[in-house]
Amino acid sequence: MFESGKVTLIAGPCSVESREQIVEAARAVKDAGIKIFRGGAYKPRTSPYSFQGLGDEGLNLLVEAAKNFGLKTVTEVTEIDVLERIHEKVDILQVGARNMDNYSLLKKIGQVTAESKKWVLLKRGFAATIEEFLLAAEYILAAGNQNVVLCERGIRTFEHATRFTLDLNAIPVIKKLSTLPVIVDVSHGTGRSDMLIPMSRAAIAAGADGVMIEAHPNPKEALCDGQQSLHTSHLKEWVEECTKIAHLLGKSIY
Ligand code: PEP
Ligand code: MN
Repeated sequence: MFESGKVTLIAGPCSVESREQIVEAARAVKDAGIKIFRGGAYKPRTSPYSFQGLGDEGLNLLVEAAKNFGLKTVTEVTEIDVLERIHEKVDILQVGARNMDNYSLLKKIGQVTAESKKWVLLKRGFAATIEEFLLAAEYILAAGNQNVVLCERGIRTFEHATRFTLDLNAIPVIKKLSTLPVIVDVSHGTGRSDMLIPMSRAAIAAGADGVMIEAHPNPKEALCDGQQSLHTSHLKEWVEECTKIAHLLGKSIY
């Protein structure tokens, strides 16, 4: 994954909600030919009154569902307290936008993964410049793990037709400044399910090494981010569209 010449696709729900939901999502991800499954267990929510995730139980359900379908996993590490547990169980450790400048967490993740070299998916803070984003990645690199993938997930601007403004400029800019792979989270970057396919195409066309999407078997009932989740019945179409653009650039899908 995250190799040059490949476009790495990641899909799964914003949050793990129940065994039934996560198994149904994993089955759809597998059926669409996607290899990496996402799902949040420890959720950093803007409001303390929103669903906070299933925690340890969510992590176990994610890992169990992924294992049954032969998928690799990615989940968010929200704090140092849950780092060891997540490191032991998942393939890719995500750092969320709200933690991009949590330097003690970044350092600790770099140290904990220094031996395993598990991939760390670092999201850009929504008020961070590209320079700050790259410097945040340096904390992980300097602590001993070079396997960092940068994730553009939209920044906050005056525009509110979309939840965030997906800064696709960041892809070619980062490609000039860094050798790290860059992927794009089209769900948080747009906040709208009708934009997921067009912006996935655009991200790949702009040179992204991968795309991440939120997908849910029943987005209307989702406990988190349903409005920006692809219905799992559309995952095959999403993969087809991504494949078309990847092929135009001489790349294949991981
Ligand atoms: C997520 O991917 O579940 C998430 C919370 O994203 P972000 O940190 O980009 O807001
Ligand atoms: Mn989400």
